[in-house]
Amino acid sequence: MAFKKLSIIEPILKAVAAEGYTIPTPIQQQAIPIVLQRKDLLGCAQTGTGKTAAFAIPILQILHEQKPMAPGIKVLILTPTRELAIQIGESFVAYGKHTGIRHTVIFGGVSQMHQTNALRRGVDVLIATPGRLLDLMTQGYIRLDKLQIFVLDEADRMLDMGFIHDVKKIIAKLPPKRQTLFFSATMPPEIQKLANVLLTDPAKVEITPPATTVDRIEQSLYHVGKMEKPQLLLHLLKDKAIVSALVFARTKHGADKVARILQQHNIRAAAIHGNKSQNARQDALADFKNGNLRVLVATDIAARGIDIDDLTHVINFDLPNVPETYVHRIGRTGRAGNTGIAISFCSAEERDELKDIQKLIRKNIPVIHEHDFAMNANSVAQVPVQRQQQSFKPRRPNFQSQNTGGNHERRGYSAQRRGMR
Ligand code: AMP
Repeated sequence: MAFKKLSIIEPILKAVAAEGYTIPTPIQQQAIPIVLQRKDLLGCAQTGTGKTAAFAIPILQILHEQKPMAPGIKVLILTPTRELAIQIGESFVAYGKHTGIRHTVIFGGVSQMHQTNALRRGVDVLIATPGRLLDLMTQGYIRLDKLQIFVLDEADRMLDMGFIHDVKKIIAKLPPKRQTLFFSATMPPEIQKLANVLLTDPAKVEITPPATTVDRIEQSLYHVGKMEKPQLLLHLLKDKAIVSALVFARTKHGADKVARILQQHNIRAAAIHGNKSQNARQDALADFKNGNLRVLVATDIAARGIDIDDLTHVINFDLPNVPETYVHRIGRTGRAGNTGIAISFCSAEERDELKDIQKLIRKNIPVIHEHDFAMNANSVAQVPVQRQQQSFKPRRPNFQSQNTGGNHERRGYSAQRRGMR
């Protein structure tokens, strides 16, 4: 099916074609007609499915057809992180470049001046994270009385990250007569309850559960001693085929350490995690996207939702203790129909995590046996006793001791587990 079949107007078709999209993704095929009919929508889908365009394209079209428009914010898109807000903003730039629809992005951790200046000039679409939005609403910079469409993006992550009260405060200030589009990758009870309150007779769109979407990604596994992981990573990175790699570490401290080791070996690398300032995270992400960095080392919370079109490799330096996180992680590569490569390291202490992951994805990850840092996959006998004791960790780690800081990351993990099981 072509985009044209979805009754999309010429200025948007032209922009979508310029992005190189030829066929709408399943969520776009299903959601765009619903949104254009001005119905409420409940979308069960995660990033990587094309959900941003699934709401951005029809929103741009609805607004374009209302031109000339009265001033005022007509669309509010609420999203949990700065990274996601920026990405959504970039989508509006790309798909809306021939429409003349004005949008702006607001988020915390930076000076509000540019944001309030943009608001003063007038915008049709506002993309915001909850904290800064509430703040600017309280200061009187934002009025939502002209709102027609409200998009709640990644509702389950709002809950994970502890933003749900802010979200509810914002919702209480929206005009009751509006169209609402609600997106969530999972539907834990609290999110289901919120959807029931927010939506009126919604159309539901559910996109294939994550565990079945990993098939197009080439996966492999290295059994390796915990202490040998850095050498194995350095060894793998000698391969020029690894153009860009997102490396996942379990802890913030671990992410910093891996990035440091890579830098010491002249590999362009940086770490992102919850302890880094917003600006440092954003700079690292921009450098990674434009190719200045070859490796970005990240913790899960810092990396979820990050959208990098041409990412060739995901490397699990540590296996996640939540099996669904493995699927989220490797889904960062193989975007938009490309094949991706996911390499995982598994130390003796991570065998239980591996078992859980393989159960979830319903297949065994192919093991690379021939490498210089190999360990017998069937026994831990080769790991010196001393080291086993030093590096032993409980299977479900105590986040207080594992994660050196950042309430968000701690809350995120446990809430994510609760929601997904
Ligand atoms: P999202 O789920 O919105 O984060 O989108 C995931 C990725 O898919 C983004 O990099 C988009 O640029 C890309 N994308 C979205 N729609 C399409 C499409 N119809 N064809 C090809 N790529 C797409």
